[in-house]
Amino acid sequence: MNDHADWEARCRRCGRCCFEKVEFEGEVYYTETPCEKLDLSTNLCTVYDERHTARPGCVPLDPKVIAQGILPEDCPYVEGVAGYRAPHPADEGEDDA
Ligand code: SF4
Repeated sequence: MNDHADWEARCRRCGRCCFEKVEFEGEVYYTETPCEKLDLSTNLCTVYDERHTARPGCVPLDPKVIAQGILPEDCPYVEGVAGYRAPHPADEGEDDA
């Protein structure tokens, strides 16, 4: 496998990074809104090969983007990233009332 294929193979296709995120007071939160290009039955992107042009805002996963904290804490791309802070789950902080 080449380096690109090795990098791509790390993804477990959970689809969780493909949910919209919001930032509030310096913290990143997942929302319950999936990207419109995400197939919820397979967790796969329906425009994967053209995702960066078909969906402005879909950013390539490079170390600089990963450091911004947009991937869940158990994502293989953030394993071993010192001090990594994952987004908060969508339901965190919701009022139970
Ligand atoms: S969160 Fe990580 S493992 Fe899940 S789809 Fe995104 S990149 Fe792949």
